Amino acid sequence: MAAGNRHDPTRTACSDSGYSLMEFMREYPDDAACLEHLWRTRYSPDGEHAECPKCERERVFKRYATSQGRQSWTCTGCGHHVHPTAGTIFAKSSTSLHLWYFAIYMMTSTRCGVSAKMLEREIGVSYRTAWRMLNLIRNELMRDDGIPLSGDVEADEASVDGKPRKQGPRRQIALGPSRRSEAAKLRVRSRATVFAAVERGGRIKATVLPSRHGPHLQRQLVKWVEPESIIITDDWPAYYGLKRHFIDHSQINHSAGYYVDGNTHTNTVEAFFGHLKPSIRGTYRKVSHRWLQGYLNEFVWRRNARYNPTSMFESLLDAATHERV
Ligand SMILES: [Zn+2]
Repeated sequence: MAAGNRHDPTRTACSDSGYSLMEFMREYPDDAACLEHLWRTRYSPDGEHAECPKCERERVFKRYATSQGRQSWTCTGCGHHVHPTAGTIFAKSSTSLHLWYFAIYMMTSTRCGVSAKMLEREIGVSYRTAWRMLNLIRNELMRDDGIPLSGDVEADEASVDGKPRKQGPRRQIALGPSRRSEAAKLRVRSRATVFAAVERGGRIKATVLPSRHGPHLQRQLVKWVEPESIIITDDWPAYYGLKRHFIDHSQINHSAGYYVDGNTHTNTVEAFFGHLKPSIRGTYRKVSHRWLQGYLNEFVWRRNARYNPTSMFESLLDAATHERV
C-alpha cells in the first residue's frame, strides 16, 4: 500500500465507496454546515442573493443571530424570513440537521438496511425518533420515481415473512398440539406477497400486493411497464395472457426444473429477492405488512441508485432538498 497522509485520509480509487465517512465529516462537520447546504441548494447558490417572494425580485439576504436560534435568512429589503427547511422532511423537526444528514449517510453506506435500534444507538436519539426518521427517508425520499420500465423485463413474486400479531401463531402454538394446523395457516397468512419487475441491465420496481393471483400481478405489470416490452416470467398460471398487453411474453418452466433457456430466465429479479429476504431477516427480523412497502422502497432505491452518476449519498441528499409531494 502506498504511503498516505494519515492525518488527512482520502478515499482510495480502488475502494467500493462512492462517498466515505471522512468526506462526510469534512463536508458536514456541524449543524450550521448542513443548514448552509440547504440554504444554498434550495434558495441561494452564492449564499447571499435569493429571490424574495414578498419583494418579487432578487434581494440580499442575511442570517441574524436570534435568541431562539432561528433557522432562517432575512430579506434586507422587507424583513421577510426564508426557512431553508420549509417543505422538506426536516421541517418542524426538533432533531439536529446534522443527525438527519448522518442518518441519510448511513442509509446509503449500508447494503443490508439500517434498523431504528441501530440508528438510535449511533446518533443518541430515542427509538421513536430514530424510527420516524428512517420511515420518512424510506417513504418520502426513496419512493418510486414513476418512470415506466421498458425493453426485456423480468417479473416475479415472492413471500416475505410478516410480523405475527399478538393473537397470532405464537399464542396458538402455546395452546397445544391440536391447534398447530391452525397456527400453520395463520403463519401463511402472516406472509406478504411482494411483486417485482426489473429491466435487464436496468432499473427495478417492487410493491406489496394483496395476493399472487392473476388480476393483481397483471394489473401491476401494465402500470409499471411500457407496452412495447418483452415480459419474462416463470410458468405460474397467473401470468398467462400477458401477450395481450405486451409485444411478447416468454415463460421459463420452473416446475419442470428448467431455469435458463437462452435469454429466457428470471435470474435478475430472483437475485433481488435473494438479497432482500436475508437482509430483512438479518436487519429487521420481521416487518409488519403496514410498513413493508417502505423497506421495499429502500432496497429498490439502493439497487437503482447504482446507475446514478453521483454517489448514493449525494443522490439521496438531493432528494431531501426537494419539497415534499
Ligand atoms: Zn423582501
